[in-house]
Amino acid sequence: MLIFDGHNDLLSRLHAIGDHSGASFFRRNSEGHLDLPRMQEGGFGGGFFAVWLPPQGKGSGFQPMPGGYMIPLPPPLDLPASQRLAFAMSATLFKIEAASDGKVQVIRTADQISHCLASGVVAAILHFEGAEAIDTDLNALHVFHQAGLRSLGIVWSRPNAFGHGVPIAFPATPNTGPGLTEAGKQLVRECNQLGILIDLSHLNEQGFRDVAARSQAPLVATHSNAWALCKSARNLTDYQLDAIRDSDGMVGLNFATIFLRSDGGQTTDTPIETMIRHIDYLVKRLGPTRVGFGSDFDGAAVPQAIGDAAGLPNLIEALRQHGYNDELLQNLAHKNWVRVMQLTME
Ligand SMILES: [Zn+2]
Repeated sequence: MLIFDGHNDLLSRLHAIGDHSGASFFRRNSEGHLDLPRMQEGGFGGGFFAVWLPPQGKGSGFQPMPGGYMIPLPPPLDLPASQRLAFAMSATLFKIEAASDGKVQVIRTADQISHCLASGVVAAILHFEGAEAIDTDLNALHVFHQAGLRSLGIVWSRPNAFGHGVPIAFPATPNTGPGLTEAGKQLVRECNQLGILIDLSHLNEQGFRDVAARSQAPLVATHSNAWALCKSARNLTDYQLDAIRDSDGMVGLNFATIFLRSDGGQTTDTPIETMIRHIDYLVKRLGPTRVGFGSDFDGAAVPQAIGDAAGLPNLIEALRQHGYNDELLQNLAHKNWVRVMQLTME
């Protein structure tokens, strides 16, 4: 059962350890969740490879809040620093592709995803998690698109020239302030024209509404869960889920325990049943063709029952035991992502 996955932070992890060539990707690691051997073992057939720009200086961790916590948002990044980082991390993905001997391909059309999945090549979508590296004239958008950018989160939570996002806060709603700026609205139009997927996962509720009101593409949250089951500001309310359903978009289940657990806790000691509860909820609300996975591998603490990419079959098996048939499992595993990318990119 091949998995196509809505979100991973491999490129940020490699950047953090100073592996700019991606050499460590090709050998089995004990750190992180992703490398080629573990991906092949677990049936990880591809997914969205995020360029996430870390805060400058020391980021702040979890701060207690009544009944929970929040991570205060780091200050905005400037354009030159953002572009330097985005070039470096994008380059790492292209270096991995070049060194992979045909085992990894950065895809530029939806048909290439199907082709890669059918031939055992890891299909990588270049994704920017936050548009800090894009100037408000959108020139960089065109250049990065030519290079292979096919998916963009307008914000990664911290505010930028295009909009405002949600802090990681629990318990809290996504209704945390203003939405898109005028430049953000222009960015939506341009992404629609170029066939770049707009990822809603880190937007706040007003930003979500601003995209929903003008995007012509299906609405997609690549790595978010059901707010009804875990009251994190990063999760999707029923209103948001219904808007995604009505646009024929989809949601990728985030494996991070802080977005899964009803207590918002960061502990890998979280049973697979907690993941299944979200999948049940999402499938019921969105329908069987609008749910997939968005692991957040290499970016978050995930249930130890999955562990890393090699543990993905445990999730498939648990869903099978739970009563999901082969057709539904294929949809969740990759078919729904291929469907949505076909609608978005072509
Ligand atoms: Zn994220």
